[in-house]
Amino acid sequence: MTAGRPIRTARELVDAGLVAPAAEEAVARVTSRYAVAISPTIADLIDRQDTGDPIARQFVPDIAELTQTPEERADPIGDGAHSPVSGIVHRYPDRVLLKAVHVCPVYCRFCFRREMVGPQGLGTITPAELDAAITYIAEHSEIWEVILTGGDPFVLSPRRLHEIMERLGAIDHVKIVRFHTRVPVVEPGRVDAELVQALKASGKTTYVALHANHPRELTPEARAASARLIDAGIVMVSQSVLLKGVNDDAAVLAELMRAFVETRIKPYYLHHPDLAPGTSHFRLTIEEGQALVAALRGRVSGLCQPTYILDIPGGHGKAVVGASTIAAEGGGCYTVTDFRGNEHAYPPSG
Ligand code: SF4
Repeated sequence: MTAGRPIRTARELVDAGLVAPAAEEAVARVTSRYAVAISPTIADLIDRQDTGDPIARQFVPDIAELTQTPEERADPIGDGAHSPVSGIVHRYPDRVLLKAVHVCPVYCRFCFRREMVGPQGLGTITPAELDAAITYIAEHSEIWEVILTGGDPFVLSPRRLHEIMERLGAIDHVKIVRFHTRVPVVEPGRVDAELVQALKASGKTTYVALHANHPRELTPEARAASARLIDAGIVMVSQSVLLKGVNDDAAVLAELMRAFVETRIKPYYLHHPDLAPGTSHFRLTIEEGQALVAALRGRVSGLCQPTYILDIPGGHGKAVVGASTIAAEGGGCYTVTDFRGNEHAYPPSG
């Protein structure tokens, strides 16, 4: 494990060779607006010779973050509209988000909750708020799945995670507990036997969704941390964000999805970037995203295909935005497009 503490300030970024001395003042304006943390593992992964390094682009603050476009908003996916009690987002009938903590081991420059996370953010849920959140889950028998997100729930101590799992474990109608995390990639040493054990509760199935966006993030250490979870019976899926200058390339996406599958992590979601403030330099168009997803389909195994989705601003939930491969022609006939882009009649005419 790489030792040391995270890089957080403009001066530390300069000292680490991640920001040019001449840019320190400008970058300090970004660090005073949005949280910054680069874990030692991620700092080691950055190629300082490459000015377009896809790892640096995800974590090193950029002056472009101070440019806010009119369509951007503080709560891009509309969590606030569906929060009946503090820490809970209940958008879909059978599942809730439980946001126990708003702290992360790294801060992604494109984060959709960047106005809520970080040292100046919403912090950790209080014991009274956690009681109210657990009571809400217990009183709603339609809740089948609880998704711990935030923030990154893996920053909580194993003792606190165990306590949350015990309390969820006592609720009969909750069958699935899912954690969303970046820790196996950005701080793999944290995934030790104690943490793994804390994620399990009798009679419940635990899922872990790993957030990674570039194949270089799946280091041997990240793969070993994931294996510790999977070998303990935890199911892993992936989530990635489609990001300009990071993974907006069919070959890079294919390598990323293959790396997940090789690690026994099923590709799950590929998110279109949300309208978070100061993130327009990461966004590509929906058409560009659809073209990349179509290219992926022809390039790699069906196991490696994520679902390309958009969170509809305003809290209306997710919509699948993958390019359609079938068009109705009337009379029960269709035109189907294969992975090479060739069109075929369905059913065939003869
Ligand atoms: S780990 Fe998730 S919540 Fe934390 S900064 Fe990155 S995207 Fe945001």
